[in-house]
Order: sequence, then structure tokens, then C-alpha cells
Amino acid sequence: MTSENLSTPVQYLKGVGPRRAVLFERLGIKTLGDFLHHYPRLWQNRHETQDLRLPTASGLIVLRGRVLRASSHGAGPRLGIYKATLATAHGKVDCLWFKHLSRSYDAFASVKAEASEGADLWVIGRAEPDLTGVREIRVDEHYTLADERWRMHAGRITPVYALTEGLSQRFVREAAHKAVEAAAESALDLVPAELIAKRKLLAAPQALRGIHFPRSEAELEAARARLAYEELLLLELAWILKRRQTRGIVKRHSYEVKRTLLTPFRVKAGFEFTPAQKRVINEIFDDMRKPYPMTRLLQGDVGSGKTVVALSALLLAVENGGQAALMAPTEILADQHRATLDRFLKDLPVRVATLTSRVPKKEREKILAAARAGEIDILVGTHALLEAGIELPRMRLAVIDEQHRFGVRQRTTLRQKGSLIDLLVMTATPIPRTLALSLYGDLEASTIDEMPPGRTPIKTFLSPEAEAFEAVRREVKAGRQAYIVYPIIEESANQDLQSAKSEFERLKASVFPDLKIGLIHGALPGKAKSAVMAGFSSSELQVLVATQVIEVGIDVPNATVMVIQNADRFGLASLHQLRGRIGRGAAESFCHLVGDPRTEEARARLSIMAETSDGFKIGEEDLKLRGPGELLGTAQSGELSLQVADLFKDAELLSYARADADELLKADAKLQAPGHKLLRERLIALYQSRWNWIDLA
Ligand code: ADP
Ligand code: MG
Repeated sequence: MTSENLSTPVQYLKGVGPRRAVLFERLGIKTLGDFLHHYPRLWQNRHETQDLRLPTASGLIVLRGRVLRASSHGAGPRLGIYKATLATAHGKVDCLWFKHLSRSYDAFASVKAEASEGADLWVIGRAEPDLTGVREIRVDEHYTLADERWRMHAGRITPVYALTEGLSQRFVREAAHKAVEAAAESALDLVPAELIAKRKLLAAPQALRGIHFPRSEAELEAARARLAYEELLLLELAWILKRRQTRGIVKRHSYEVKRTLLTPFRVKAGFEFTPAQKRVINEIFDDMRKPYPMTRLLQGDVGSGKTVVALSALLLAVENGGQAALMAPTEILADQHRATLDRFLKDLPVRVATLTSRVPKKEREKILAAARAGEIDILVGTHALLEAGIELPRMRLAVIDEQHRFGVRQRTTLRQKGSLIDLLVMTATPIPRTLALSLYGDLEASTIDEMPPGRTPIKTFLSPEAEAFEAVRREVKAGRQAYIVYPIIEESANQDLQSAKSEFERLKASVFPDLKIGLIHGALPGKAKSAVMAGFSSSELQVLVATQVIEVGIDVPNATVMVIQNADRFGLASLHQLRGRIGRGAAESFCHLVGDPRTEEARARLSIMAETSDGFKIGEEDLKLRGPGELLGTAQSGELSLQVADLFKDAELLSYARADADELLKADAKLQAPGHKLLRERLIALYQSRWNWIDLA
């Protein structure tokens, strides 16, 4: 065997051909080598079921036996049942094939031919509800023992692949088997030999065989671990290279802490910064004074006071004659930041402008001209500022709020364009450490780990609506304000919005007719949004009905109660962010979760919320419930290029990979040694386009 096998086009696999090759290409498979790296989506234990009464992990029943008798029960061309009674280790079992479930009538015809009297079969299916005492199985797949290919599908741990229209599971599985037979042996190791030995890993051919057609659970786990390690090693190498590239850049500007703006700002703030805030401000200032650009992540739970920290950094830039940008994910949040800046910077010689999509064209032109002329010190806007081709000739610092809505690629693109500027990204999304390190591997992290003093923890309840509304009444009577939130799920956005609006009408007309109540949602024109927000901030409105547009950034300390409707439809991170809108003043705050959780997972989410308000704990639980893929969204996990590595379960492998990547690059900074050639090529192939960057020249 030679490595040519790896580059053989998939069409030359027996049975594939040029037409199906096009379908395989949709799965990202052009060559046998690609096929080897198209790992199964999951694996099913298809050893013969030992006890028919016990549910199996996959929900499948797997039996082997001889057909004793068989019969067709027909009902026209579309409907029909084929029934074969099988003699199995568990006695007689009736197996049913349903014609309307068959993919084609041909398939149904072949059932009759293959499962005829006297045939030896494997059947894979599900138990039919057992009403009559007769054991019945609804068959999904069957394989005749006369055809050796059954060994790929039954009586083993069986791979299940991602499919595309026109390719069946059976076909892809058999093709995968051929690809493994033809090419796995030629697979070369990306992972350098010394690391394979050091970490006691399987060699590539063994790992690829094991991931596709494992002979045991242990072999599958060893194969998975080996391939996960490889993915994590590549990821860590990419991050280190990224950091190294940044550190090689020499900034044109430098900073001196002059305090001409910083001191008056601190005095104006009217509160003492917490020790945690002071610590992270120092970390940021130290970074800004280094010769290479800062790339720092500022983490802090909702309400921990990240804004004044960001402002301190912005002011250091301005004190030194620079310009800076502050970017938020939504216009509401950009406006909120602007309001905060105005409050803290009142009477200070700092020129601030806001640029969002709703700034009229003329005004926009003026702001852009002023920015170009260097007459604006801090420009506030949404993330769209990045794309808008804005010129800030003395730009030194960009602060990006709510980083979780902002992908790795966007961040690395920014670093590439404005490679000289300092970058501070902020997040309140509580991300467990392992995940943070992998997702923000190019960043140094600062964490605000304490809340400003005088906060009372929020009490959270699962309540019926009536009780929740009573709480609203009680708080409003005491002079406080309330949020009532309705979720909008993307798939049913229109309908949800309609129901939020009609709920608002109902609340206004018949539940709180005596209260001043406003409505805010994402589809509201910008001006109207600002007006409603201003009304709530000034306490003119007592109750604010909202969709999750209030998830981030809104800061009304007098609001002490929040009702979250249909709370079971929100994810944990969203619930936590939402809840963070209350509990911002000294008075005790209450969050009422109203909803009807129908799944275990939804129930778990709500009880976690009732139990804790620690963002990092909630993040861990979220990761457990949803897994990293869903937590990050497909876009972001795609950017990380992880197929089998699980950032949560593989924390230990990740730490090995990090240490090994570090050593590897210390010894061979550009991966030029012959033993590192494959690693280098794969690294470039994976991350060059995904991150819009990789520098190994
Ligand atoms: P987040 O980290 O969620 O962005 P903010 O920066 O909006 O939090 O701060 C939440 C609230 O706490 C704001 O009203 C802010 O002015 C206030 N705050 C921030 N730091 C302190 C502090 N050290 N002492 C008292 N209040 C503070
Ligand atoms: Mg904030």
C-alpha cells in the first residue's frame, strides 16, 4: 500500500462511481483520505440484545434467527405489512416490515425475497407496544447471514454516519468500510512519533480503523482519544502561533498613565472601584503599555461592573491623544453605552459620537468626516462598525462588548486589519475555563470575580403566572419597577412576536389597567425603542413588557422584579443574562420563572436557575446539559474544527495538547522539521481560511 491510496478519488471505490461521487462531495469527501476523516456521527451497540425487557441505550433491539414462517398482509399498492416469525435465542419473535416506511417499493420487494422461510437473518428494530402478549419488532434494517456484508452492520459496534440526500446509511457504511480497507493502512501520522510514544496514543491506521469499525468499546475510546488529541493539538498550535504573531507586531503608539481624564472620571463615578476592578484595570494598563498590541478578554458576571473598567481603558487611550471605538452587539446596547459614557464623562473634555444604522445619512457623513479629521475621541456603535470602513487615524483601542456574539473569525479579521490596535473584548457569558481557553486561546484573560458591594442576591422562583403578577404589583406599589419578558425563538419569530404584542394588550387592558406599562421588542423602530427605554429609565413606566432585546446592557437599578414567561423555552445562558437586569440596586430583587417544562432538560434548567445565581456554575451546568457544540453554536464550533474532541470531557487531553504544542513550537518554531511536515500542512489547511489567518512563512 502506498500513500497514493489516500488521494484516490472516492469514485473509484467499488459501487460508488462518478454520480455518487458528487453526492459524497457534498459531505466534504473527495478522496479516500477525506473519507477516513469523515468520522461517524455516533456508534450503536448492535450486539445481540440480551434481555428483551430492558431498554437498550440506542433504543434498538438486535436479534439473530431463522425465519420459521412468513406472510404478506396487503392493502393496496401503498400500504402493506410483511411479517416473519423468527426463531431467536429469546424464542419466537414476530418481525414486521411496513411497506409505507420502506424507502422504495423495490426495497419492500427485496424484504420478501430475503426474509423468506428458512432464511437466517439479523434484524434491527424497535419493540412495538406489546398489547397482546406477542413479541413484535418493527424492523428498521435487516441483513441476511448468507451475505457476508452483515458483519459491517450487525453483531458489533456499528458506525452511523452523517448523510446527504441520495446516500443511504447502509451504502455509506459499506463504502466507509471499503475506504478503511483500502487506505487506513497508508494513513500517516500527523502527530510526531515522540508524542505518540509519550502520550501512549494509537498510531493513525489503528485509530482510523477503530473510529470507523471498532471491535470493542475500549478500542473505540482509544481511537477517539487519539483523534481528539490530534484535533486539540492542532487547535493549540494554531492559538500559540496566533499569539506569537501578535507579539511580533510593534505598536506605533505608547501610553503613559497621565490621569488627566482618569482621575476626574473616578471622582465622578461616585463609588470606589472594587478590588477586582482595580486588579483588572492594572492588568489591562500593563498590557496596553507593552510594545505589542493587547488582545485581552475581560470576563465578569452580569452586573460585576465591566463598563467602568472598559471606560478606564478608553480614557487611557484618549489621555494619550488616541482615538478608540466601543462596540456592542445590538443598537439598544450601543445606546445604553452611550448613555453611560455621557453620565460618567459629563464635563470632561472627551468627544463622543454614536454611529448606528439609524443615524440619518447626513449626520452619518458628518460623524465620519469628524472621525477622519481626528475630532472624535470615542466612537460608539454596533459590531457593524468593523465592516463600515471607518477611518480613525489615531485609533489605538477597540473594546468589543458581549464577545459571545462575535466569532473567532471576526476577531482574527479585526486583528489582521487593524493589527496595531489594542483589543479588549468583554463577555458576561459564563464560560467554563476549559472552554474559554479553547475559544479564546489567542487572548489573555482577566476576570472580575466579585460584585460591587451592597447587592442583595436575587431570589428566584418557579411560579404560576398569578403569583408572579402579584409580585409585580407588590413591588410597583413599593415604588419599584418590573420587567415581564416573553421569549422569541427564531424559528417561530413572527408568531412569538405577535403573541408578545397581544399579551401586552391583555396585560394593559385587564391585568394591570392601573399601571403605566410599555412594550419593547427588536422589531420596534430605533426611535420608538429609545423612547420606551427612556420612559423606563426615568421611572415614568412602571412595567416594561419585553422580548429578549433587554438581555444585555439595560441598567435600571430601581427594577426589582422580573417575570420570565415561557421560561422553559430559554437556554440557561439567556435566562442568566436576563435575570441580570434586576438585582442592580440595594433593594432585594425577585425573579419569577413562569412556564411548563415538558422535558427533563427544561426542568433541569429551571431548577438550576432557582438554585444558583453564580454565572460560572450556570455555565458548567449548561455545558453538561447541552454539550459544547450547541453551547457555542455551530458557527463557532465549526471555527474550532473539532469533530470528535469534546472540550468538556476531554479537558485532560486538552491540557496535554496545550503543553505539547508549546514544547513543539519551542523546538521548531515554524514546524519545518521533516517530522512536522504533515502537521504543518494540516494546520494551514484547517485554520488558514477558517480564521482568515495563519502565519508559518
Ligand atoms: P456589567 O459587568 O454587567 O456590564 P455594569 O458595568 O453595567 O455591569 O455595572 C452594573 C452596575 O454597577 C452599573 O450601574 C454600574 O454603574 C455599577 N457599578 C460598577 N462598579 C461599581 C462599584 N465598584 N461600586 C458600585 N457600583 C458599581
Ligand atoms: Mg455590560
